[in-house]
Amino acid sequence: MRKFDGQELVLASHNKGKLKEISEMLAPYGIKVSSAAEHGLEEPVEDQDTFIGNARIKAHYAAKATGLPALSDDSGISVDALDGAPGVYTADWAETPNGRDFPMAMQKTWDLLEEKNAPAPRTAAFNCTFCLAWPDGHDEVFVGKVEGQVVWPMRGAEGHGYDPIFMPDGHDITFGEMDPKVKNNISHRADAFAKLKACFE
Ligand code: IMP
Repeated sequence: MRKFDGQELVLASHNKGKLKEISEMLAPYGIKVSSAAEHGLEEPVEDQDTFIGNARIKAHYAAKATGLPALSDDSGISVDALDGAPGVYTADWAETPNGRDFPMAMQKTWDLLEEKNAPAPRTAAFNCTFCLAWPDGHDEVFVGKVEGQVVWPMRGAEGHGYDPIFMPDGHDITFGEMDPKVKNNISHRADAFAKLKACFE
């Protein structure tokens, strides 16, 4: 595995929730972290049908455009009774002409489960794939997961995205109700980061 030995890393994401969580995880390593927005990068088309494929697109695009190592995150929620949906389409389910509407996306997820009369618990997992890419084309990929269930109604104002309807196993509150410090220790992103951090040590 190639180690990161630079001074600066670009976070190849425009998602504020992810940027906050990843920046907090990287803070102890003393690396200068800049965002795709700060470099004026556009969002590349994510046309792969796997988290790994889309993570690679984003990290290589940012590394090539900036000449700096770049870290991307492709993530999403996969609901078992919906055959893994929304999966790589998690963000797409929230798209509207006026930006992303996550309450709408969560409502759609719940409505589909109701239509199917899916039995409880309505198990699901959040997946996170990190890709660390260098301008010379090399990359390292790390995958993380947290299991839990989809619950209703939406609960909590913490976090981002689908956090208000995801209750991780072993807890009786949703990610949306959880102290971010606790979430950042048990989440899919924390699981992937525990593997990625070897690059920085
Ligand atoms: P991506 O930018 O294509 O990776 O989209 C990932 C989608 O999954 C976004 O809509 C996120 O809001 C959602 N997502 C990823 N991680 C989390 C999380 O930790 N909590 C809630 N939603 C998440």
